[in-house]
Amino acid sequence: MSTAVRDVSVFGDAIAYFNEAATLLNLDAGMRAILTHPSRQVIFALPIQRDSGQIEVYTGYRVQYNFARGPAKGGIRFHPGVTLDEVTALAFWMTWKCAVVDLPFGGGKGGVTCDPTTLSKNELERITRRYAAELVEIVGPDKDVPAPDVGTTPQTMAWFMDTYSMHVRQNVPGVVTGKPVEIGGSRGRVEATGRGVSLCALDEMERLGIERAGAKIVVQGFGNVGSIAAKMFADAGCTIVGISDVTGAYVNAAGIDIDGAIAYAQEHQSLDGYRGGDKVSNSVLLEHDCDVLVPAALEKVLTVENAARIKAKLIVEGANGPTTPEADRIFRQNGVIVIPDIVANAGGVTVSYFEWVQDRQGLFWKEAEVNERLKDQLITNFHAVRRVAEARNITYRTAAYMVAIERVVASLKIRGVYA
Ligand code: NAD
Repeated sequence: MSTAVRDVSVFGDAIAYFNEAATLLNLDAGMRAILTHPSRQVIFALPIQRDSGQIEVYTGYRVQYNFARGPAKGGIRFHPGVTLDEVTALAFWMTWKCAVVDLPFGGGKGGVTCDPTTLSKNELERITRRYAAELVEIVGPDKDVPAPDVGTTPQTMAWFMDTYSMHVRQNVPGVVTGKPVEIGGSRGRVEATGRGVSLCALDEMERLGIERAGAKIVVQGFGNVGSIAAKMFADAGCTIVGISDVTGAYVNAAGIDIDGAIAYAQEHQSLDGYRGGDKVSNSVLLEHDCDVLVPAALEKVLTVENAARIKAKLIVEGANGPTTPEADRIFRQNGVIVIPDIVANAGGVTVSYFEWVQDRQGLFWKEAEVNERLKDQLITNFHAVRRVAEARNITYRTAAYMVAIERVVASLKIRGVYA
């Protein structure tokens, strides 16, 4: 899906959203220039020995977009479609995401252009360790703190943390977040992004008068974010009428049994062959009748081609960048409300922040405390965005960018430009 649309710059689209908010803020040209340039982009070769003994060279990236509010923060993606353009856009989004939920971080992102599904566990470990070794000088708890993203897992973070710690000759759990709990991970981190998606959605549904009981939800993508969000919606009494993953989509008007679907996906590594709903194409799923649509797979799935046919009243962006600017305009015209990625999926980075705090203090919180703090941080800041949206009669996306840009600019102005 996403490889076919890569002729359009993902970073270019991201900047389009930024520009709209920057204009409303009357941001001066100098600030605009600073904020539309990544601070640092690193590209490096990763020569890896496959299990067969053959050497293959992969390409690794790390983009540290902005440091005004703190160390760079953002995930590492292992996917065949990873490009510098995509990683830069993701690092740019992380800058605004961290700011809009008021975390003391800048934005970063990294990745390796590889297909993890074709690599063994040992090969993935070698790629991760070599990737971490290449970054030793420029990452660290006060420099840049990576985390998991598409194609990477808590195990990937454990290998990264171990490699970094070996190089600097001390244990540094705070160099990455999203680690297993046994080595300094936070309770509640694995579920945090999906939990945040459902918290924002349920809060907005209440404002819109959509009853939880029986509310029809469609979730695209059944990985970490999508499956957990679906579970939280189901636990709140909603009916999940459609789910999908890369192998196909499944609809069931009576409601998908989410626990059963999660167990199936765990056992079979995907939903392929799932019998708890009628199989439809992924594109049909997005246009399925529902109250709330949660795109939680990859970017650019809601486009000018399908936006007018989307039936949901509310779209909650679990994925990063699932809506193109053209589609966003159509949603605005049609009165479809969109909770943008930088707010809706900020639960993960929020609990990553809590993990970093816990690692630094060496004191770990109970899961209930993590979840309570997550709800408070996310919903308090979502309400700040809502207040701006209502006051200026603008979308949540524009309002979110305005809140985030104002916070980053405030930090930049106080620190001053070292020019
Ligand atoms: P994941 O790898 O666990 O899951 C991705 C899911 O999307 C899989 O079920 C996959 O099969 C599915 N998928 C891929 N292509 C698809 C297609 N064409 N149609 C339908 N489904 C498809 O990844 P994740 O961690 O759940 O991340 C999903 C999205 O959420 C990404 O955009 C990621 O950047 C974003 N995100 C993740 C986190 C996090 O904490 N994991 C945080 C913020 C944002």
